Amino acid sequence: MSQARRLTRIDEQWDWADHGHCQALPDLFYNSEHEPKGVRRRKEAAAKKICAGCPVLAECREHALVNSELYGVWGGMSEAERHREAGRTRTG
Ligand code: SF4
Repeated sequence: MSQARRLTRIDEQWDWADHGHCQALPDLFYNSEHEPKGVRRRKEAAAKKICAGCPVLAECREHALVNSELYGVWGGMSEAERHREAGRTRTG
């Protein structure tokens, strides 16, 4: 398979992301370990509210679960929720 063909296929796998409501708010969807727990919880809740109205929630959630995305809110699920769903224990 040519490099151009592989790149096209990867682009197509991410098409849904162009329609995500989080495009302009990446900082809200990822926590820093330096942020206090209360701030992280408020950011997570706000991000999940945005996800609830997002037209690509299902695709985003599936991507995050299939690819074991470790960090951030994806498809309305927090890091901890995805770890629980996958039967993993969080270490950080
Ligand atoms: S479901 Fe949430 S994280 Fe996923 S694209 Fe939509 S707004 Fe972004």
